[in-house]
Amino acid sequence: TVLLEVKDLKAVIAESKQMVLRGINLTIREGEVHAIMGKNGSGKSTFSKVLVGHPDYEVVGGSVEFKGQNLLDMDPEERSHGGLFMSFQSPVEIPGVSNIDFLQMACNARRKKRGLPEFSPIEFFGFLQPKLSAVNMDPKFLNRNVNEGFSGGEKKRNEILQLAVLEADLAILDEIDSGLDVDALQDVAKAVNALLTPSNSILMITHYRRLLDYISPTYIHIMEDGKIVKTGDVSLAEQLEREGYRGISAA
Ligand code: ADP
Ligand code: MG
Ligand code: MG
Repeated sequence: TVLLEVKDLKAVIAESKQMVLRGINLTIREGEVHAIMGKNGSGKSTFSKVLVGHPDYEVVGGSVEFKGQNLLDMDPEERSHGGLFMSFQSPVEIPGVSNIDFLQMACNARRKKRGLPEFSPIEFFGFLQPKLSAVNMDPKFLNRNVNEGFSGGEKKRNEILQLAVLEADLAILDEIDSGLDVDALQDVAKAVNALLTPSNSILMITHYRRLLDYISPTYIHIMEDGKIVKTGDVSLAEQLEREGYRGISAA
């Protein structure tokens, strides 16, 4: 089943009207992992932000369907409740709110929107246990304030836990590898892999190939100047490593 269908998507920066996305085409089906790679400034983050409805950007052409619905008609909250999740390059700290309270609030808000009964604290704790072990997170992080004093790797892992709790259909992970050492990267990748099911999908964005050693994508796309200029399998990442982005665009 097709989860996300992007057709000739064009977007400008709202303030300056500068064109950033120049006609993106992408189809993501259930169970697939897609990686978008590209040089700095090629429009990767803009694409992910446009998908979640970031107000800095204006869509000026094309269409996006998510689970058969017009995504561009939905506000950011509806997109999120509809099953779209995006990780942030720098997750916010929330002083005075414990991680578990935050997760429970987010989870119950989602359940309410979906017409499901809210979890009591005890029910939520039960729901959380397998997810905690899937992402291999120490339960002591539940009682700490959201992201406060977390290391880079702990923040990323906490985001993967949020993703698990929200049971998103499509998770957009923008440079979850940035600033992580190899050990932390492996942990985060393991957490992501543990969440993959035949019915959810991941769109991961990365500048470097390293992440793809741990989360193996179904497809790799190369973005250049606001367009996907090439799509392939892992061999494309290998070619990239040999020839650089310049070699790929020349081909
Ligand atoms: P990437 O994530 O691939 O590094 P971005 O999507 O962040 O690239 O940026 C694409 C281009 O659009 C860059 O030239 C960037 O400077 C510009 N850009 C993106 N968002 C904004 C914004 N809010 N204001 C001004 N310029 C922006
Ligand atoms: Mg960048
Ligand atoms: Mg970026």
